[in-house]
Amino acid sequence: MNPKALYSLTYGLFVVSSCKADRINGQIANTVIQVCSEPQIIEVVINRSNLTHEYISSSKVFAVSILSQETPLNFIGGFGFKSGREVEKFAGVNYKPGQLGAPIVLDHTLAYLEARVINRIDVYTHSIFVGELVDADVIKEGEPITYAYYQQVKRGTTPRSAPSYIADKKEEKTKMDQYKCNVCGYIYDPEKGDPDGGIKPGTKFEDIPDDWTCPVCGAEKNQFTRI
Ligand code: FE
Repeated sequence: MNPKALYSLTYGLFVVSSCKADRINGQIANTVIQVCSEPQIIEVVINRSNLTHEYISSSKVFAVSILSQETPLNFIGGFGFKSGREVEKFAGVNYKPGQLGAPIVLDHTLAYLEARVINRIDVYTHSIFVGELVDADVIKEGEPITYAYYQQVKRGTTPRSAPSYIADKKEEKTKMDQYKCNVCGYIYDPEKGDPDGGIKPGTKFEDIPDDWTCPVCGAEKNQFTRI
């Protein structure tokens, strides 16, 4: 068996959110699909240790905010790599409550779905929540972000040899060292910089201000290792 075959699966990238009493939470998920259309049924797979899992299990409600390709890395990082048990993930985020109370992200969202859970299937570490759609709308036109785009372009983890790598026009110019976040694996590529974090393309890692943090997980600069 070659488990690398699984890398050929394609996914989207979403904020899946829920509520419990007056609390709200959300997380990044790549596993939302439509199951059938009459009636409109969707499903999402959520890790059983996540706070969002606890909230969906309790309220039997979830919302899916479908993110655009332009979503900044640090916005995605705010909903991933951190737990709602430690941080208020919706602080500073524009959102509105859905019809059933799950928060719908309005920043960087192209469209949203809100569903009531009709079935839950526990599969080892994860649960599949099956939900009947109660509301859905398009917020704006745009290209939805895929999991591959997030990994390869946003996080810059595509090797130069890969066909999907976005080549720099001056590939032959002197290479600057890349640095890798010890916490999340994000790779800082000096040629790309971190425009969302205010670091211009062409900035050496050594020249980044000390208060800069990993755009994916928020780790400090001293958590990076040269690769
Ligand atoms: Fe990181």
